Amino acid sequence: MLRRAGLSLRHFLLERKSNAGYSSYSSEAKMSRPVQARRLEGIDKNIWVEFVKLADTYATVNLGQGFPNFPPPDFLKEAFARALGGEDHALHQYTRAFGHPPLVKILAQFFGKLLGRELDPMTDVMVTVGAYQALFCCFQAFVDEGDEVIVIEPFFDCYETMVKMAGGTPVFVPLRAKAPKDGKLMSSADWQLDPAELASKFNKRTKAIVLNSPNNPLGKVFSRGELQLIADLCVKHDVLCISDEVYEWLVYDGKEHIRIASLQGMWDRTVIVGSAGKTFSATGWKVGWAMGPNRLLQHLRTVHQNSVYHCATAAQEAVAQGFQREFTLYGKPDSYFVQLPKELQQKRDWLVQSLDAAGMKPIVPEGTYFLVADISAFKSDVPDVPNSDESYDSRFAKWMVKNKGLAAIPLSAFCCEAHKSNYNHLIRFCFAKEEATLKAANEILQKWKQEKTS
Ligand code: PMP
Repeated sequence: MLRRAGLSLRHFLLERKSNAGYSSYSSEAKMSRPVQARRLEGIDKNIWVEFVKLADTYATVNLGQGFPNFPPPDFLKEAFARALGGEDHALHQYTRAFGHPPLVKILAQFFGKLLGRELDPMTDVMVTVGAYQALFCCFQAFVDEGDEVIVIEPFFDCYETMVKMAGGTPVFVPLRAKAPKDGKLMSSADWQLDPAELASKFNKRTKAIVLNSPNNPLGKVFSRGELQLIADLCVKHDVLCISDEVYEWLVYDGKEHIRIASLQGMWDRTVIVGSAGKTFSATGWKVGWAMGPNRLLQHLRTVHQNSVYHCATAAQEAVAQGFQREFTLYGKPDSYFVQLPKELQQKRDWLVQSLDAAGMKPIVPEGTYFLVADISAFKSDVPDVPNSDESYDSRFAKWMVKNKGLAAIPLSAFCCEAHKSNYNHLIRFCFAKEEATLKAANEILQKWKQEKTS
């Protein structure tokens, strides 16, 4: 229209500016009505935005945000390169919205075998933009105004905000720590649910519980007994289970990842959430999925089809090929799902030793690539400020990245506002890092200890 009138955009704007009537619709004409939707109240701050920026600015060693700094396996990268450079031009175009057919087929085959039931790839599996979108679809699909959702604390932070955005009320139940005997290091297994406390959170308004095993940030792997406790309560109170299993392959010391959906009565009420980012060390690809009975997934599809169409077709194709390979190698020494936890267990042990030697007591994780450590012995370096609005762990983590160049995430980011003081002596490290990065972290920690003792 502008071109037809023979005006360039610049001329048009200049003309508008000199026009007497311009001020009536300039940016100075403020809107008087509230702009922000009510459901966004109180959730505008995000820990990742703040701490990722701090790490980018100050960190020489970044053990903060959870992603590997080593490459994904060659077979996966090669599959992506083939998808991009091959003859099949369709891989550059839209694919099926609810999941690229080769990917949903192999996911159904692979997980069907693990769960001991036949999965329909078209109805029981849905591909999402990372596990994040799968979680978002769950909360939007299931949670109504007034519904309560039980969240086990400490928790991956988005559960709370996603429940609130859906209009629901998160109800928190903490994992309670028992001090280990004989001066042993604490393990993530020492953090347990109190059965009576958990049971007390279930009521008529409870719509769902969020389970995250292995758990971010503690690395706790829920035992069969603990899962059975949760399952019994879900069945008794007719409650759904959103089971975030993105770290399912990252389990150590011979521990077993048990899928709650495989327990009696749970398949029909559980959505399993997974992530190729965590599974294949390729977090930037943002391929995730939701899995469950059609009676639940049909509602996730309603959210999915009215929001994001799908993630990159070529990435889905590569992940499909990755799973195809893992299907044939399942349980064998060459399987990536066997090799990755072996390598990560060694990295975990290095970081445990570094922290322990430095006096920053580690809580040894049984799973995930996170490790939580107790900073109490370092209080003399970063004194507490009484009545500060910011919790101690947050100030400590900021001080540490600015003064020592070492980035970690404060644990108060993984709990609700009311419980921050329970976690303010803890910070979380990610050990999915190259050997050189973990060595550099060790040097910082040991030098710091020497400075303290000299
Ligand atoms: N769930 C948990 C427990 C996570 O830690 C993360 C990522 N940090 C996600 C879900 C999101 O995974 P994705 O990158 O696949 O969206």
